[in-house]
Amino acid sequence: MPLLLIGSCLAGLTLTGTDTVSTPNYRQKGTDPTILSVSESIYREFKTTHTAWEAGQHAEVETVNRVSADLIRAIHQRYSDPKAMKELEEFTWEVHLFQQKKVDAWCLPGGKIAVYDALVRVTQSDGSLAAVLAHEMAHVLLKHGDARMKQILKEFLGGKSLQAALSAKPTETRDFFRMAYGNGDYVGVIRGFSVADEKAADRLGAVLCSLAGYQPGEAIVFWERMRYLKGSGRQPELLSTHPVDEERMANLRRIIEEMPGK
Ligand SMILES: [Zn+2]
Repeated sequence: MPLLLIGSCLAGLTLTGTDTVSTPNYRQKGTDPTILSVSESIYREFKTTHTAWEAGQHAEVETVNRVSADLIRAIHQRYSDPKAMKELEEFTWEVHLFQQKKVDAWCLPGGKIAVYDALVRVTQSDGSLAAVLAHEMAHVLLKHGDARMKQILKEFLGGKSLQAALSAKPTETRDFFRMAYGNGDYVGVIRGFSVADEKAADRLGAVLCSLAGYQPGEAIVFWERMRYLKGSGRQPELLSTHPVDEERMANLRRIIEEMPGK
């Protein structure tokens, strides 16, 4: 049974529904256990060094929990084929709202999600928050960080395996890991995912939002708002890894136009 850990709550999710969209691309094998354990450890460390809001302390904890749970149900609907569902076994979803001035959110392998409260002040609606979270979850489901980590191992860590790099240079390797998997706090030698990966995450994110009962078009509203913030002199951290140029917005509009029952 897949689990969703939200704050101090532990809730099992019921898998229901049928996949009404095209079949996802399946990976051939599961994620390297070292990736999952590093991810778990980095998330645990983040929780001890940053303030996570508990329900009752911040009005938006409930919003984040509700939207995340909707999206996780959508993921299980999308991956409802038995072969695909097996791929979700490595996920133990966990979601926290953190006290952070940065406008950002990220998701690590295994389903470890951080939402910063400054982001929720910008999203302003369940649908917009769903658009951001679905996009970040899509990057993990599509294993976009794995290729980046491989590239980093080759270019910066002497071509070692992740395990070997961790033994030789633990701090550096963990920082590179955060970078590879899109933690905006660690933007450095590698900036953001490729355009192709962003398109794929936008597409799967839109599908997940739709399956979760949100309007996929909320993504347009959110990213236009981010562009406005940038234009007004602010630089939301999410934009450091997710530039929103005309091409990206046009592609996003195309994706949403092509969606059945948009
Ligand atoms: Zn992205």
